[in-house]
Amino acid sequence: MATLELKGVEKFFDATQVIHDMNLSVADGELVVFVGPSGCGKSTLLRMIAGLETLSSGEIHIDGQRVDYQPPSNRGIAMVFQSYALYPHKDVRGNLGFSLKHDKVEKSEIDRRVNIAADILGLQELMSRKPRELSGGQRQRVAIGRAIVREPKVFLFDEPLSNLDAALRVHMRVEILKLHQRLKNTMIYVTHDQVEAMTLADRIVVFRAGKVEQIGTPLELYRTPANRFVAGFIGSPAMNFLDAHCKSGSVTLNGEAVCHSAHPDGSMTLGVRPEHLRVDQQGPFQGKVQVFEHLGGEAFVHLSLADGQSMVAKLDGEHQFRPGDACRLGIAADKCHVFDADGLRIAS
Ligand code: ADP
Ligand code: MG
Repeated sequence: MATLELKGVEKFFDATQVIHDMNLSVADGELVVFVGPSGCGKSTLLRMIAGLETLSSGEIHIDGQRVDYQPPSNRGIAMVFQSYALYPHKDVRGNLGFSLKHDKVEKSEIDRRVNIAADILGLQELMSRKPRELSGGQRQRVAIGRAIVREPKVFLFDEPLSNLDAALRVHMRVEILKLHQRLKNTMIYVTHDQVEAMTLADRIVVFRAGKVEQIGTPLELYRTPANRFVAGFIGSPAMNFLDAHCKSGSVTLNGEAVCHSAHPDGSMTLGVRPEHLRVDQQGPFQGKVQVFEHLGGEAFVHLSLADGQSMVAKLDGEHQFRPGDACRLGIAADKCHVFDADGLRIAS
């Protein structure tokens, strides 16, 4: 159990800055998710925490101790990689115990820890199998088990579920949540998948190009995204962004009043989540149906508005539309998001 602190952490690869002035305090037992598009620096930062990459400047503290000049083995961390990195010629038991054996831990203690990890992850029946005799999900569990046996202060996960198919990913996501509830360790979990971030995190750190865009609980990010980037990244399907106009505190689109805003008079961006729209004959969004996708329990209607802008609404499965149908949608005013020309949120 441990806290983790990043103070002014920066990383350059040659002249290219990949991480900018990163400051973050992770509480003991907290599960923090780093999320952002591919290439934004998530793995680099995680590898710096693990000691697999040097810092260009700044400090890293684990449990109050400065560790950034310490080798990985002295930091009390264990990392799970996307690529599992299992030893192909060792069986599951050998893979689980390898790092402890390497550290000259006593055999009885290795057996004890390996058995605990195998129980937690349901690996007991597979102990004498080689990695090639395991499914993707089973291999991933061995990789997680290898981290558990180290009894680390902090777990680091780098996109551990990316190589699994969709159904298994959902299953393993729940397994990781259960694991966190059971072990109560501090965990940093990296993903590019906003659904994983929303469902796993106590707090989410949204990255973009090596900088933090926003830090908050999943619902804080969903309800009050600080800017257009976070608003578009969190939530699925993504938020609709519409060019609209503000005059005397009233936001209008195609001449229809939508909501009130503190935005000054002029052009602005209206943000509307698909799931907040509903069919409403008095609603401000009038258009023609371009595409209608029925998923059974819910349906997506893609609407083309009078001014040529398009938007998507997520409706319940009772609705039925055909391409070309007229459709009118409404939204509760308090569900509207307003962004200025720089993409920053304007509080209502
Ligand atoms: P993410 O994990 O968010 O996809 P990475 O941390 O892997 O992103 O990469 C961030 C940026 O740093 C990318 O532009 C990548 O090309 C660059 N980068 C990563 N590792 C190195 C390296 N060893 N040398 C040079 N550039 C690197
Ligand atoms: Mg990565």
